[in-house]
Amino acid sequence: MAEHQVKIRSIKRINHDVLQIITEKPRKYDFSPGQATEVSINKNGWKNEQRPFTFTNLPEDNVLEFTIKTYPSHEGVTNEMLQLEVNDELILGDVFGAITYKEEGVFIAGGAGVTPFISILRQLASNGETGNNKLIFGNKSQKDIILAREFSDMLGENFINILSEEESEEYPHGFITRDFLEKHFDTSVSNVYMCGPPPMMKAVHKELSEMGIDKNVIIEEEV
Ligand SMILES: Cc1cc2nc3c(=O)[nH]c(=O)nc-3n(C[C@H](O)[C@H](O)[C@H](O)COP(=O)(O)OP(=O)(O)OC[C@H]3O[C@@H](n4cnc5c(N)ncnc54)[C@H](O)[C@@H]3O)c2cc1C
Repeated sequence: MAEHQVKIRSIKRINHDVLQIITEKPRKYDFSPGQATEVSINKNGWKNEQRPFTFTNLPEDNVLEFTIKTYPSHEGVTNEMLQLEVNDELILGDVFGAITYKEEGVFIAGGAGVTPFISILRQLASNGETGNNKLIFGNKSQKDIILAREFSDMLGENFINILSEEESEEYPHGFITRDFLEKHFDTSVSNVYMCGPPPMMKAVHKELSEMGIDKNVIIEEEV
């Protein structure tokens, strides 16, 4: 596996537990929206701790952007990233990834599972091609919604949220159930892009199958 050391250009929190890290981009390092790489921290004791993260900016940018939900309780890499500063270094591996945009469809994301869709939707928006793409985004509470304003600007009413642990006037409450999905699309959907934690993926798979959605239209990855 190739290794690329890159300096951090900027690092900031974009909500209570999510970091946006912008780094240098290695020469000839190309990715498509939706792809990811293994990342480790270039510090003693952390160099071999690789974790997968998705590029969230546009391929043509001359930097790389990562949007990283941190888990202090795991005492792992994302917790250590909270200590990083400008000019600290990350080590990146090769580019890989299962999710690539084909054509218009429905994006279903849970929590940090939205990350492959950030770059895809930003690229569509920058080309004026968001069309009737929809993003169904499940989170525990309102404070967990990553980039709410940007998704809302890009997708308008096609940005659909649901909160599992908070009752609010603004958003529906509950999990992504079959009823909820059926309110927003039907079996004529051409592409369903899915990314989230394994329990959510399992549940949504079952619901899509009960709705009669062909599994060949599903493009997915677990986070
Ligand atoms: C292809 C792909 C792309 C991804 N892209 C992104 C992305 O762009 N942004 C993003 O935020 N995430 C992304 N993820 C998820 C991300 O890789 C993980 O959140 C990250 O690896 C967590 O690393 P960590 O070292 O902090 O914790 P972990 O590696 O999860 O945990 C470190 C250690 O903590 C312990 N542990 C595990 N779970 C718990 C728990 N629940 N409570 C207490 N301790 C625990 C275990 O001993 C574990 O070894 C992606 C995942 C994949 C597969």
